[in-house]
Amino acid sequence: MEQGHCHDLLNSLSEYIDGELDPQVCALIEQHLQGCEDCRVMVDSLRKTVYLYHASSGPTPVPEGVRQRLYRCLNLDEFLGK
Ligand SMILES: [Zn+2]
Repeated sequence: MEQGHCHDLLNSLSEYIDGELDPQVCALIEQHLQGCEDCRVMVDSLRKTVYLYHASSGPTPVPEGVRQRLYRCLNLDEFLGK
């Protein structure tokens, strides 16, 4: 198990939502998810959260461009609509 690595990944995801994550880190996240069940579960719940943000009519919690990059990073294109 690589708990520390997973923790870094979670931090990176938060940074990514804040719009500060390097695209290289995005690739690392994808790579890690392929081998880590725990983080896939985590991303799945993030996916639901992001989807709720997307579906809500309230203020957008993150800039549109950042959100689009996050969706693409997490293979959430389906939620982008177009
Ligand atoms: Zn992990």
